[in-house]
Amino acid sequence: MKFFIDDLPVIFPYPRIYPEQYAYMCDIKRTLDVGGNCILEMPSGTGKTVSLLSLTVAYQMFYPEHRKIIYCSRTMSEIEKALIELQKLMDYRSGELGYVEDFRGLGLTSRKNLCLHPIASRERKGIVVDETCRRMTNGQLKQKIEREEASVEDLCSFHEKLYEKDPHNLIPPGVYSFDSLIKFCKKEGTCPYFTVRRMMPFCNIIIYSYHYLLDPKIGERVSKELSKDSIVIFDEAHNIDNVCIESLSLDVTDDILKRASKGANSLAKKIDEVKQHDSKRLQDEYESLVEGLRESGISQGEETFMANPVLSEDVLDEAVPGSIRRAEHFISFLKRFIEYLKTRMKVLHVVSETPSSFLQHLKHLTFIEKKPLRFCSERLSLLVRTLEVVEIEEFTALKDIATFATLVSTYESGFQLILEPYETENATVPNPILKFTCLDASIAMKPVFERFSSIIITSEIFLTDGCHQRF
Ligand code: SF4
Repeated sequence: MKFFIDDLPVIFPYPRIYPEQYAYMCDIKRTLDVGGNCILEMPSGTGKTVSLLSLTVAYQMFYPEHRKIIYCSRTMSEIEKALIELQKLMDYRSGELGYVEDFRGLGLTSRKNLCLHPIASRERKGIVVDETCRRMTNGQLKQKIEREEASVEDLCSFHEKLYEKDPHNLIPPGVYSFDSLIKFCKKEGTCPYFTVRRMMPFCNIIIYSYHYLLDPKIGERVSKELSKDSIVIFDEAHNIDNVCIESLSLDVTDDILKRASKGANSLAKKIDEVKQHDSKRLQDEYESLVEGLRESGISQGEETFMANPVLSEDVLDEAVPGSIRRAEHFISFLKRFIEYLKTRMKVLHVVSETPSSFLQHLKHLTFIEKKPLRFCSERLSLLVRTLEVVEIEEFTALKDIATFATLVSTYESGFQLILEPYETENATVPNPILKFTCLDASIAMKPVFERFSSIIITSEIFLTDGCHQRF
């Protein structure tokens, strides 16, 4: 059916519409007209997704200056469902209009779900698939091939094939579910993950997980090119505040500290090896760090082993502090920080403190300053890349410690550190845990509100009062 809301022609792919759906669409239209944000609730089973898509697609096609719809949902199956709903809607629109609109809708999920490479796709853990992929697609490998130190076969052919295609048209217009995307790419011999990543600027709608926008560790890489006038939708958002909080919280345990120490020792060994065979590589890294992170190129990659949780502009332009510029100095710095955390874990009762008091105590005991801590996450990322580390799993605990260092030194408020000696109330054997908890969902949400002009948060069940107040 076709109807108007004010002057906007809406095509709805069903013969009838519930009054709730119509009211819901009117509210969204009003929000988009004034360029504001809204929180909308609608009971389950009332066709919320189709109403959302019909209205926002109609709005985008009628006012093309609204260039993109970013539709975020929670799980892969919800994303796939929305893509299939969108496919149906666009087919119905073509029938009603009598022509096929120039429209592209794609969904993004992790490499683990999309990879076609016979070796990388066999890995079970997402982080290992990511790193295996990076090693087969990065610029360093190409330089090695030029120097005849590696073979062209080491590159991922699915990734290379993309260079043979028109970069604006890696996939023809249309709406693709994950199944149809993978089928298309298999036929073409191209990588589905990078097809979507590179086509994001040319899509009318992109459907992906909350994390690509809310988790600053990922969002900065994946979503940085989306323009301000995009319409952002968070669907199934009843636990959005938990997602925000979880994306910035982390736990440190004895086991993580032990593994982080091991990781630091094995990085130190690798540094010695590289120093003996290729000391220029480390010298080049040192020199680029004097210029700042931006110059080091670390902020420009597609993604790195670990993205910085706070990649603010000022951090990028600053020179990395002298005390952690040399690879070996940085490792000793990390080791000192880990040893400090080990001593802090020896508590007999629960301790709760703020990031500032933690930093003060840290400085008092170890002379570790706040500034180098802020750079830990990026610095480690660059080092892992410089050393061309292969066994990435060995360093995940060290990555957690570096992320913690960066977060605790960046946010003075909105976080709490809680040290607990026992896992449960009745336990008699100590099993300490340091919980670094984000208390304020708006910290992760704020950059999204600052970046985009229209944000629609919607859910089937009632959002909590707290959620309304926070957003
Ligand atoms: S480029 Fe694509 S196909 Fe190749 S390893 Fe990476 S994710 Fe897999």
